[in-house]
Amino acid sequence: CGIIGYTGTENDVQDVLMTGLSGLEYRGYDSAGLAIANGSLAVHKREGEVSKLESALPETTLDGVAGIGHTRWSTHGPPSDENAHPHTDCESRVAVVHNGILENYQSLREELTADGHVFNSDTDTEAIPHLIGSALESGAAPEQAFRQAVDRLEGSYAVAAVFQGDETIYVARNESPLVLGVGDDGHYLASDVPAFLEYTDRVIYLEDGQFARVTPSGIVVTDEQGAVVDTAIDTVDWNP
Ligand code: GLU
Repeated sequence: CGIIGYTGTENDVQDVLMTGLSGLEYRGYDSAGLAIANGSLAVHKREGEVSKLESALPETTLDGVAGIGHTRWSTHGPPSDENAHPHTDCESRVAVVHNGILENYQSLREELTADGHVFNSDTDTEAIPHLIGSALESGAAPEQAFRQAVDRLEGSYAVAAVFQGDETIYVARNESPLVLGVGDDGHYLASDVPAFLEYTDRVIYLEDGQFARVTPSGIVVTDEQGAVVDTAIDTVDWNP
Protein backbone atom coordinates (compact mmCIF):
# COMPACT_ATOMS: atom_id res chain seq x y z
CA CYS A 1 0.00 0.00 0.00
CA GLY A 2 3.06 2.26 0.00
CA ILE A 3 6.14 2.67 -2.16
CA ILE A 4 9.48 4.30 -1.39
CA GLY A 5 12.52 4.57 -3.63
CA TYR A 6 15.85 6.34 -3.59
CA THR A 7 18.93 6.61 -5.77
CA GLY A 8 21.89 8.80 -4.95
CA THR A 9 24.90 9.50 -2.82
CA GLU A 10 23.65 12.17 -0.39
CA ASN A 11 22.19 9.52 1.93
CA ASP A 12 22.54 5.83 2.61
CA VAL A 13 20.03 3.89 0.52
CA GLN A 14 19.05 1.37 3.20
CA ASP A 15 18.49 4.20 5.73
CA VAL A 16 16.25 6.11 3.31
CA LEU A 17 14.21 3.00 2.49
CA MET A 18 13.72 1.98 6.14
CA THR A 19 12.82 5.54 7.16
CA GLY A 20 10.40 5.73 4.25
CA LEU A 21 8.76 2.42 5.12
CA SER A 22 8.22 3.58 8.71
CA GLY A 23 6.79 6.84 7.36
CA LEU A 24 4.29 4.89 5.26
CA GLU A 25 3.05 2.77 8.18
CA TYR A 26 0.04 5.02 8.75
CA ARG A 27 -1.40 3.81 5.43
CA GLY A 28 -1.82 0.29 6.84
CA TYR A 29 -0.04 -2.82 5.57
CA ASP A 30 0.51 -6.53 6.15
CA SER A 31 4.06 -7.02 4.86
CA ALA A 32 7.15 -5.02 3.97
CA GLY A 33 10.21 -5.46 1.80
CA LEU A 34 13.06 -3.81 -0.06
CA ALA A 35 15.48 -4.38 -2.93
CA ILE A 36 18.86 -2.71 -3.36
CA ALA A 37 20.74 -2.88 -6.65
CA ASN A 38 24.49 -3.23 -6.81
CA GLY A 39 26.35 -5.84 -8.86
CA SER A 40 23.42 -8.11 -8.05
CA LEU A 41 20.06 -7.46 -6.40
CA ALA A 42 19.63 -7.82 -2.64
CA VAL A 43 15.97 -8.55 -1.83
CA HIS A 44 14.59 -8.84 1.72
CA LYS A 45 10.91 -9.10 2.57
CA ARG A 46 8.73 -10.25 5.43
CA GLU A 47 5.12 -10.64 6.35
CA GLY A 48 4.25 -8.35 9.27
CA GLU A 49 5.59 -5.10 10.58
CA VAL A 50 8.54 -3.08 9.35
CA SER A 51 10.37 -4.11 12.55
CA LYS A 52 10.20 -7.74 11.35
CA LEU A 53 11.85 -6.74 8.08
CA GLU A 54 14.43 -4.76 10.06
CA SER A 55 15.44 -7.82 12.07
CA ALA A 56 15.64 -9.92 8.89
CA LEU A 57 18.23 -7.58 7.35
CA PRO A 58 21.93 -8.53 7.39
CA GLU A 59 24.06 -7.02 10.18
CA THR A 60 26.13 -4.97 7.76
CA THR A 61 24.24 -2.27 5.90
CA LEU A 62 23.43 -3.27 2.33
CA ASP A 63 25.66 -1.68 -0.25
CA GLY A 64 24.29 0.09 -3.30
CA VAL A 65 23.11 3.38 -4.76
CA ALA A 66 19.55 2.58 -5.88
CA GLY A 67 16.78 0.84 -3.98
CA ILE A 68 13.02 0.42 -3.67
CA GLY A 69 10.79 -0.54 -0.75
CA HIS A 70 7.15 -1.48 -0.26
CA THR A 71 4.47 -1.91 2.35
CA ARG A 72 1.79 -4.28 1.09
CA TRP A 73 -1.95 -4.29 1.62
CA SER A 74 -2.72 -7.61 -0.03
CA THR A 75 -5.39 -7.86 -2.70
CA HIS A 76 -4.23 -11.03 -4.52
CA GLY A 77 -2.72 -13.75 -2.36
CA PRO A 78 -2.69 -13.79 1.47
CA PRO A 79 -0.06 -11.97 3.55
CA SER A 80 3.13 -14.11 3.52
CA ASP A 81 6.89 -13.74 3.01
CA GLU A 82 6.55 -15.02 -0.60
CA ASN A 83 3.71 -12.65 -1.47
CA ALA A 84 5.49 -9.62 0.01
CA HIS A 85 7.07 -7.24 -2.51
CA PRO A 86 9.56 -6.72 -4.18
CA HIS A 87 9.04 -9.46 -6.78
CA THR A 88 11.72 -10.52 -9.26
CA ASP A 89 12.01 -12.24 -12.65
CA CYS A 90 13.35 -15.81 -12.86
CA GLU A 91 16.99 -14.66 -13.15
CA SER A 92 16.70 -11.91 -10.49
CA ARG A 93 17.76 -9.23 -12.94
CA VAL A 94 14.93 -6.90 -11.96
CA ALA A 95 12.97 -6.22 -8.76
CA VAL A 96 9.53 -4.61 -8.80
CA VAL A 97 7.22 -3.01 -6.22
CA HIS A 98 3.60 -2.23 -7.08
CA ASN A 99 0.57 -0.63 -5.50
CA GLY A 100 -2.80 -1.24 -7.05
CA ILE A 101 -4.62 -4.05 -8.80
CA LEU A 102 -3.85 -5.58 -12.20
CA GLU A 103 -7.14 -6.56 -13.86
CA ASN A 104 -5.50 -8.74 -16.52
CA TYR A 105 -2.95 -10.56 -14.34
CA GLN A 106 -4.61 -13.95 -14.86
CA SER A 107 -4.13 -13.93 -18.63
CA LEU A 108 -0.62 -12.47 -18.29
CA ARG A 109 0.27 -15.19 -15.82
CA GLU A 110 -1.05 -17.93 -18.12
CA GLU A 111 0.86 -16.51 -21.07
CA LEU A 112 4.11 -16.18 -19.09
CA THR A 113 3.76 -19.63 -17.51
CA ALA A 114 3.26 -21.16 -20.97
CA ASP A 115 6.46 -19.36 -21.93
CA GLY A 116 8.36 -21.15 -19.15
CA HIS A 117 8.24 -18.52 -16.39
CA VAL A 118 7.95 -19.96 -12.88
CA PHE A 119 5.96 -17.86 -10.40
CA ASN A 120 6.94 -17.75 -6.72
CA SER A 121 3.88 -15.93 -5.36
CA ASP A 122 0.10 -15.68 -5.70
CA THR A 123 0.19 -11.95 -6.42
CA ASP A 124 -1.03 -10.10 -9.49
CA THR A 125 2.18 -8.02 -9.23
CA GLU A 126 4.57 -10.85 -10.05
CA ALA A 127 3.48 -10.74 -13.71
CA ILE A 128 5.35 -7.42 -14.02
CA PRO A 129 8.94 -8.61 -13.36
CA HIS A 130 8.33 -11.65 -15.57
CA LEU A 131 7.12 -9.42 -18.42
CA ILE A 132 10.24 -7.28 -17.96
CA GLY A 133 12.41 -10.43 -17.87
CA SER A 134 10.86 -11.61 -21.17
CA ALA A 135 11.61 -8.27 -22.82
CA LEU A 136 15.21 -8.36 -21.54
CA GLU A 137 15.57 -11.84 -23.03
CA SER A 138 14.38 -10.48 -26.38
CA GLY A 139 17.23 -7.98 -26.23
CA ALA A 140 15.46 -4.90 -24.84
CA ALA A 141 17.44 -2.46 -22.70
CA PRO A 142 16.10 -1.92 -19.13
CA GLU A 143 14.05 1.20 -19.87
CA GLN A 144 12.53 -0.29 -23.02
CA ALA A 145 11.79 -3.55 -21.17
CA PHE A 146 10.08 -1.62 -18.36
CA ARG A 147 7.95 0.41 -20.79
CA GLN A 148 6.97 -2.66 -22.80
CA ALA A 149 5.87 -4.42 -19.61
CA VAL A 150 3.86 -1.43 -18.34
CA ASP A 151 2.17 -1.12 -21.75
CA ARG A 152 0.71 -4.58 -21.16
CA LEU A 153 -0.85 -3.73 -17.78
CA GLU A 154 -4.56 -3.11 -17.30
CA GLY A 155 -5.79 -1.77 -13.97
CA SER A 156 -4.31 0.50 -11.34
CA TYR A 157 -0.65 0.78 -10.60
CA ALA A 158 2.13 2.79 -9.12
CA VAL A 159 5.13 0.71 -10.04
CA ALA A 160 8.88 1.04 -9.52
CA ALA A 161 11.68 -1.22 -10.80
CA VAL A 162 15.42 -1.53 -10.18
CA PHE A 163 17.77 -3.58 -12.31
CA GLN A 164 20.92 -5.46 -11.38
CA GLY A 165 23.96 -3.24 -11.94
CA ASP A 166 21.89 -0.12 -12.71
CA GLU A 167 21.58 3.11 -10.67
CA THR A 168 18.32 4.13 -12.36
CA ILE A 169 14.86 3.54 -10.91
CA TYR A 170 12.08 3.27 -13.50
CA VAL A 171 8.57 4.27 -12.44
CA ALA A 172 5.10 4.55 -13.93
CA ARG A 173 1.63 5.29 -12.62
CA ASN A 174 -2.00 4.87 -13.46
CA GLU A 175 -4.70 5.56 -10.87
CA SER A 176 -2.38 5.01 -7.89
CA PRO A 177 -0.44 7.86 -6.28
CA LEU A 178 3.27 8.47 -6.92
CA VAL A 179 5.34 11.53 -6.08
CA LEU A 180 9.01 12.17 -6.90
CA GLY A 181 11.46 14.00 -4.61
CA VAL A 182 14.32 16.21 -5.79
CA GLY A 183 17.51 16.34 -3.69
CA ASP A 184 20.98 17.69 -4.43
CA ASP A 185 22.81 14.41 -4.94
CA GLY A 186 19.93 12.02 -4.79
CA HIS A 187 16.34 11.56 -5.92
CA TYR A 188 13.35 10.01 -4.21
CA LEU A 189 9.97 8.52 -5.03
CA ALA A 190 7.05 7.54 -2.82
CA SER A 191 3.31 7.04 -2.64
CA ASP A 192 3.12 10.02 -0.36
CA VAL A 193 5.35 12.97 0.61
CA PRO A 194 5.91 12.10 4.33
CA ALA A 195 7.90 9.03 3.29
CA PHE A 196 10.84 11.21 2.17
CA LEU A 197 10.02 14.62 3.69
CA GLU A 198 12.95 14.55 6.10
CA TYR A 199 15.30 14.46 3.09
CA THR A 200 13.65 16.91 0.70
CA ASP A 201 10.55 19.10 0.34
CA ARG A 202 10.96 19.63 -3.41
CA VAL A 203 8.56 17.40 -5.31
CA ILE A 204 7.24 16.51 -8.74
CA TYR A 205 3.77 14.94 -8.89
CA LEU A 206 3.64 12.21 -11.52
CA GLU A 207 0.39 12.07 -13.48
CA ASP A 208 -1.60 9.09 -14.78
CA GLY A 209 0.01 7.61 -17.88
CA GLN A 210 3.42 9.15 -17.17
CA PHE A 211 6.75 7.38 -16.74
CA ALA A 212 9.89 8.61 -15.02
CA ARG A 213 13.55 7.74 -15.03
CA VAL A 214 15.01 8.54 -11.63
CA THR A 215 18.83 8.70 -11.38
CA PRO A 216 21.29 10.03 -8.78
CA SER A 217 21.67 13.22 -10.84
CA GLY A 218 18.15 13.86 -12.10
CA ILE A 219 14.58 12.94 -12.96
CA VAL A 220 13.22 12.69 -16.50
CA VAL A 221 9.45 12.41 -16.88
CA THR A 222 8.05 11.06 -20.14
CA ASP A 223 4.57 10.50 -21.56
CA GLU A 224 3.08 7.25 -22.90
CA GLN A 225 4.81 7.79 -26.25
CA GLY A 226 8.18 8.40 -24.62
CA ALA A 227 8.31 12.16 -25.24
CA VAL A 228 9.94 14.17 -22.45
CA VAL A 229 7.42 16.15 -20.37
CA ASP A 230 8.28 19.54 -18.88
CA THR A 231 7.65 19.23 -15.16
CA ALA A 232 7.32 21.79 -12.41
CA ILE A 233 9.09 21.31 -9.09
CA ASP A 234 6.80 22.25 -6.19
CA THR A 235 7.95 22.99 -2.67
CA VAL A 236 5.65 21.32 -0.17
CA ASP A 237 4.58 23.13 2.92
CA TRP A 238 3.78 20.14 5.07
CA ASN A 239 2.55 20.65 8.61
CA PRO A 240 1.79 17.25 10.05
N1 GLU B 1 -2.15 -6.12 -5.70
C1 GLU B 1 -0.85 -6.19 -5.10
C2 GLU B 1 -0.76 -7.34 -4.13
O1 GLU B 1 -1.73 -7.88 -3.69
C3 GLU B 1 -0.43 -4.88 -4.45
C4 GLU B 1 -1.25 -4.50 -3.25
C5 GLU B 1 -0.82 -3.16 -2.64
O2 GLU B 1 -1.17 -2.12 -3.22
O3 GLU B 1 -0.13 -3.15 -1.60
O4 GLU B 1 0.30 -7.75 -3.78
